[in-house]
Amino acid sequence: MTNLTDAPFTYDTEPNPAPVPAERRAEILASPGFGKHFTDHMFLAEWTPEAGWHDARLAPYGPLSVDPATAVLHYAQEIFEGLKAYAHEDGSIWAFRPDENAARMQRSAHRLALPELPTDWFLGSIEALVQADRGWVPSGGETSLYLRPFMFASEVFLGVRPSQHVTYCVIASPAGAYFSGGVKPVNIWLSREYGRAGSGGTGAAKCGGNYASSLLPQQIAAEHGCEQVVFLDSGEHRYVEELGGMNLYFVHDDGTIVTPHSDSILEGITRDAIATISADLGHTVEQRRFSIDEWIDGVTSGRVTEVFACGTAAVVTPVGALRWPDGEAVSSDGEGGKVTMAIREALIDLQYGRADDPHGWMHRI
Ligand code: PMP
Repeated sequence: MTNLTDAPFTYDTEPNPAPVPAERRAEILASPGFGKHFTDHMFLAEWTPEAGWHDARLAPYGPLSVDPATAVLHYAQEIFEGLKAYAHEDGSIWAFRPDENAARMQRSAHRLALPELPTDWFLGSIEALVQADRGWVPSGGETSLYLRPFMFASEVFLGVRPSQHVTYCVIASPAGAYFSGGVKPVNIWLSREYGRAGSGGTGAAKCGGNYASSLLPQQIAAEHGCEQVVFLDSGEHRYVEELGGMNLYFVHDDGTIVTPHSDSILEGITRDAIATISADLGHTVEQRRFSIDEWIDGVTSGRVTEVFACGTAAVVTPVGALRWPDGEAVSSDGEGGKVTMAIREALIDLQYGRADDPHGWMHRI
């Protein structure tokens, strides 16, 4: 039974009897890619209305056994989070604003009628897993250990109502640098036909269904040579929302940077950090409705000088072209712009411990 300093739970550990051999792990860490390899353990906990959160444990990483009538397989009552642990030069390991991921998971849980996992449970679960699998945190370059906490309706019941048994799990996967050959702009397909989320829907929650609905437009984007899709609001089809898995910023010629306001986008933790960092760098930051015409006209007239996307996976990614069936608006045809790259560097330096942390965002594990 282990007791973490600040965690409200104790947990049992069942060590993996057959961990990945050291040489194989070294091979994986030298070239991890993304989301393909997993560490030796996973964290699990259960919830029922009677007992609340209980049965915290660290188990060997492996398949979960689910009954075919398990509610999540039918009604998608499921939420997840994504964050990274970074190795600093002195060997210490840090997570970036994990309390914000905990809070967002609570908001997602509320929307999906799932039980909220208290912040100290969330932080404790991450610490337990990363401490057990420390040897899986890659070091050097922009590598990290990607952490995927998730929660799902595990009751075996086909009635449509909130599940009376919920399982929480955290898995971890070493991640290589998103841009291995230098930062490269992404091209974006404008999806007018398909929306991602509507007002009052689940757009602001990190639930699997939002990603399922983004796959078809994403496929169409790829057919047009675009790596990402931008979604518009589902009412007027006029205002920019976000990409399938990233938020957007528009840099203006007067130094103002604008990010769309909407109640149906996922509030990115990277986006929030960038608002603060950009203000620290002297920019005026606005969160407001931003129309697709303002994007296209702004890029064409030069009023919008740079466009970039942001999120945990790619940190900050310059946007190259916005494309639609009979046209395109190009904001960058080579590397990222000056402002984009300065913000990117400021954020990465902080995450990798090369810069001060004036806002207390880094959490030692
Ligand atoms: N929007 C969507 C739809 C996402 O999936 C993500 C990734 N979590 C983001 C934005 C960026 O959020 P964050 O900066 O917290 O990774």
